[in-house]
Amino acid sequence: MLAHSKSKKPEVTVNKGDTPKESLTKGIDRLGNLSKFINDGDQVFIKFNLKLPSGFPTNTNFDILETLIVSCKEVGVKKIYLGSFPFKGVPIKVISDLLDLKGYFNTLGAELAFLDNSDDFDKKEINQDQLKRIKYNSLEKVNINDKEFLIPKIVLNSDKFIIVNQINVNPLFQFNSSLLNSYSIIAPKDQEIGKDKPVSKEYITFDQYKKDLISDILDVFMIKQPHLVINDLFYILEGAGPYIYKDSNLKKTGLIVIGDDMIAVDLITMQLLNLEINDSELIVEARNKNITIPQFSDIKVLGEKIEEVRTDVVLCASNLEDVQVRNFSIKSGKFCSGCFNQAYNLLNLMKTYMGKDLKYNIHNSFLIGENPTEPDNIGNIIVFGDCAVNSTKNYNFRTIIVEPKKKSKGKGKNKLLKEKHVEKKTSIKEKSNKDILELPGCPPDILNCLELIIKYYGKKNVPNLNLFMNVNQFWIMGDLNDKLKIWEKL
Ligand code: SF4
Repeated sequence: MLAHSKSKKPEVTVNKGDTPKESLTKGIDRLGNLSKFINDGDQVFIKFNLKLPSGFPTNTNFDILETLIVSCKEVGVKKIYLGSFPFKGVPIKVISDLLDLKGYFNTLGAELAFLDNSDDFDKKEINQDQLKRIKYNSLEKVNINDKEFLIPKIVLNSDKFIIVNQINVNPLFQFNSSLLNSYSIIAPKDQEIGKDKPVSKEYITFDQYKKDLISDILDVFMIKQPHLVINDLFYILEGAGPYIYKDSNLKKTGLIVIGDDMIAVDLITMQLLNLEINDSELIVEARNKNITIPQFSDIKVLGEKIEEVRTDVVLCASNLEDVQVRNFSIKSGKFCSGCFNQAYNLLNLMKTYMGKDLKYNIHNSFLIGENPTEPDNIGNIIVFGDCAVNSTKNYNFRTIIVEPKKKSKGKGKNKLLKEKHVEKKTSIKEKSNKDILELPGCPPDILNCLELIIKYYGKKNVPNLNLFMNVNQFWIMGDLNDKLKIWEKL
């Protein structure tokens, strides 16, 4: 375990200003200057939010990063690296090229860390063996609680570790705490929760997926605890999140919370957002794992008075039915957090980009979980996740009744006889329903789902979703993405 020791009372500052820079500067001053945490000659690693090739609030606000880098340089640090693993399937190089991150950080005297080695992917001669060597030279195996994690050496070897975390709402954990942010120092593939056995009833009933996820998040947190944590809630993405969706709203609070103890910073952030500490499964489980959770009375809070600046925030929908995708009815069975999280994001993407597409597609159903109810209408039926696919194999919607074509009726005296003959021969036939789209996976992969949805409906029937995917082709597909897939599997 590479955590640094903390013996004194955690200090947290709550800071309000007219600009993010002002709030951050106030916070650093209130903590007694950055030199209390960082020494002359240190190598500093700043972990920030780097999810997708977009700006804030999906990623960290660059004004905050710039202010922090300048402050670190004033202390006289030797080197500043910034980094994070992005959303699954997105190479850091793609984001850097699109946003010119590498150049931007260089002009500030800092360096973007390509944790996935994607800055090496476009070297033409690179083969699988070389890629493997590069990967394992840059990552270190760390064992904790009988688990092994691959952690970037650049993070482990830095003298100081700082987390800068953008606060957005989150469908699984209410909000993106810094605890959650610290989890993306491991690669997205390693963040996935694997099951070594087929899914049992208990797996879903006790939401083992979420339990395993929380356990991994806390283990990764224990490997390298930060020396300074900045929760940026100057603007919060509320409503639908953590990415920008149709129902998202950017709320300005003007607040930034800073401290030297990550859990204390998250606890004060929860207080500011009127969130119950005992509703946080991460905090409850951290207590069970004997991670020190400070009492509020033990946290020294400086700056604004919490009662005067606290604010409510609209959290993500906790029922998938409440996402309300146009012309879709949701039929839920029993499912775990794995499918909930993916379905929540997929439905929000569909709501955001398929609203117009679905105007003339009036009967659509979305089945999720074990033993969902039958769809109300035979129309387009999306079956989401392995549990739904497997448990609905014998459902009524899988077959449709076909009425045989009636033969044309004759004229004259033979008419009645012929009608009788037709009635006699009429029999009900069944055939398999082709208007079903299965989205397999445990849980399914969102980008894969979007591609299958376009294929199923046909590009011309979902032009808006198709446009969205085309616009994003350059970061969803390409040589760098293929190399990343190879890198992940090495
Ligand atoms: S298919 Fe979905 S609901 Fe079923 S176990 Fe996997 S993630 Fe959970």
